[in-house]
Amino acid sequence: MEQAVKYADIIIDISTKNVDRVFQYRIPSELIESVQVGSRVMVPFGKGDTMRKGYVVSITTVPSFAPERIKEIQDVVPGAVSVQEQMILLAWWMKERYGSTMNQALKTVIPVKSKVAPKEEKTIVSLKTSEELQELLGEAERKNFKARIRLYKALLENGELPYRLTAEKLGITNAMLKPLQEKGILTVKTETKSRDPIKDYERESRRVILNEEQQVAAETVITDYDAGKRGTYLLYGITGSGKTEVYMELIEHVLKQGKQAIVLIPEISLTYQTVMRFYRRFGNRVSIINSRLSAGERYDQLERAARGEIDIMIGPRSALFTPFANLGLIIIDEEHEGAYKSETSPRYHAREVARMRANMNHASLVLGSATPSMESYYKALHGEYKLLLLHNRAKKDSRLANVHVIDLREELAEGNRSVFSRKLRELMEERLQKGEQIMLFMNRRGYANFVSCRSCGEAMQCPHCDVSLTYHRDGTLKCHYCGHEILIPKICPDCGSPFIAPFGAGTQKLEEMTKKTFPNARVLRMDADTTAKKGAHEEILQAFSEGDADILIGTQMIVKGHDFPKVTLVGIMAADLSLYAPDFRSGERTFELLTQASGRAGRSELPGDVVIQTYAQDHFAITSAAEQDYEQFYKEELLYRKMMGYPPAVGILGITLSSKDERALVDAMGYFHKQILKEYCFENLVFIGPVDASPYKLNDIYRKILYIKNESYDILLKVRKSAQILEDGQECFKNINFQYDL
Ligand code: ADP
Ligand code: ZN
Ligand code: ZN
Repeated sequence: MEQAVKYADIIIDISTKNVDRVFQYRIPSELIESVQVGSRVMVPFGKGDTMRKGYVVSITTVPSFAPERIKEIQDVVPGAVSVQEQMILLAWWMKERYGSTMNQALKTVIPVKSKVAPKEEKTIVSLKTSEELQELLGEAERKNFKARIRLYKALLENGELPYRLTAEKLGITNAMLKPLQEKGILTVKTETKSRDPIKDYERESRRVILNEEQQVAAETVITDYDAGKRGTYLLYGITGSGKTEVYMELIEHVLKQGKQAIVLIPEISLTYQTVMRFYRRFGNRVSIINSRLSAGERYDQLERAARGEIDIMIGPRSALFTPFANLGLIIIDEEHEGAYKSETSPRYHAREVARMRANMNHASLVLGSATPSMESYYKALHGEYKLLLLHNRAKKDSRLANVHVIDLREELAEGNRSVFSRKLRELMEERLQKGEQIMLFMNRRGYANFVSCRSCGEAMQCPHCDVSLTYHRDGTLKCHYCGHEILIPKICPDCGSPFIAPFGAGTQKLEEMTKKTFPNARVLRMDADTTAKKGAHEEILQAFSEGDADILIGTQMIVKGHDFPKVTLVGIMAADLSLYAPDFRSGERTFELLTQASGRAGRSELPGDVVIQTYAQDHFAITSAAEQDYEQFYKEELLYRKMMGYPPAVGILGITLSSKDERALVDAMGYFHKQILKEYCFENLVFIGPVDASPYKLNDIYRKILYIKNESYDILLKVRKSAQILEDGQECFKNINFQYDL
């Protein structure tokens, strides 16, 4: 049988400067097996056909110009592609996929060199026996030395602590360690060689034994792996089903083969407990990066990876670009999280880039979630991903919470005007009496959403953005988009009326009402305002887990990943608030938030209750969350997406044009829209818009979006390429910025 002729797009002489262009070559039939994306090849180049080294970035059966003029690849260069080269290829792929410039892509993928001298990795080691530590702990508890209590407890649990990984999370400073060192209680060791974690931690005795479901999940990946098969797996397991244990089993397997692993965890879920679980199992072959690291510290950690000093990197989205030379496995925990998508160019999604990086390295990719994204579950059901299931909680004594859905309209009809429904109030009182803890979740921050004039009805707007300013209790109005801040005006700037007042309710207001309704309860609040300061986030969580408060009030932040065994009641104040966001994913996000929030109650032996207060008690996102029924939600949501033509049923390309000059923007968008319509009149493209972006004006820049829908991703990719060509050539686009989202 005759094989189709294949062509390879090749970057010549890779260097970070000179890779914006690719050249196409024919793959001779004898090399068809050996030439792959990422291969290094020798090709004739230029007029004299001098032999140059090139890198294959894509392979196609469609020649991009006359086939008789396409030269042939001479040979494949044996040997592995270096990490640096791989990263450049990855950047090139990202540029193509997301429509950014090569420069933006390179900046994302390759860390900025920084002159900071590498810091040594320090370890805090106890010099005392565990009995002596117990005694010290007792003493610290009597004196109520919070940080010391934490430190002694952590040392008792682990024997030693990796300084960099734990100091910040435990709130431990150098000044605090000094006297303890002088007293001979502990020492701070500087490690040069990695130690053997097995010896120090009696690893086997601490190991959990995987239950049957976990075993099956892990074996599926491992069997494939050992057979040389690499794939993408979706590990769908309810909260507490033991996904992390499965990840660790898989990591251990690839580490044994001399490979490395990257674990992506959303930043807010990257807690002390999570870090220590990995550390306990893998010792200081683990490192973490997070957004709080300085450029130097970050560079330092990535260099350690490049030098082979660590085997596991844990971190948010950007950890994906850790320069491991022998990457064997990528794990994305909580794969449904919005934070995996970059908001700046290149607007990449970690899932997709991870898939690409895994391909380049012949590595496997495991996605894990209790509430998988519609996209991933869709792919799993259609055979693109392998589905691994965990149905049960791993700890035998923990069970799912009782969920009560309360109709707020009915509460009001029966004369209850408080933010607390009667059921929630009753359960709160009971918990407070028993000394158990409560979490109240409110999907909004600020004291009130906005401030308006009671006379003319105008809401106070940010002068730079198209959004209302948010009222804060310190008497200021802030723009949550650009940071613009003013004192609340005494009279309305529009009509001069003195009757200006906050409107709506947020976390601050809820805190106030909670204190009023339960005057004896100790209340903590966690939202973007109370956590603005470095370390505040950890401090609040610490305080709550140490029992310093009875009630924790917060936004999304409090529902992700934290494990508070004494929390037995979760109240969701207004479940439908997030349903009305102008975004086709709002139902998915509501379902996910409610499910995650419900998962916070009853994580231990104590039975838990969840109260969902809502005005939309019949909405399927709310009913299926109340029943913790993901499949049910997925089925209904997919019907809706099919009907409306949204992903994953249909592909959408979003093209945003922006400019300081509103007139120029309107003209440019009009022209652009017309050109695309003309060029693609024979394809079945569905256009939505152009519409104003939300918000329309941001930082004095106006933005309009054109959405283009089609079932075929390839057609949308073609449209984007044409759009980029248009963008480059036209005078009217000179001061217009283009952004693509596909
Ligand atoms: P998930 O990541 O799915 O939320 P975790 O891996 O955090 O779940 O597990 C939840 C809890 O159950 C943890 O405290 C963990 O130590 C425990 N656990 C997990 N697997 C097992 C097991 N096979 N046997 C006993 N306990 C387990
Ligand atoms: Zn007014
Ligand atoms: Zn603003």
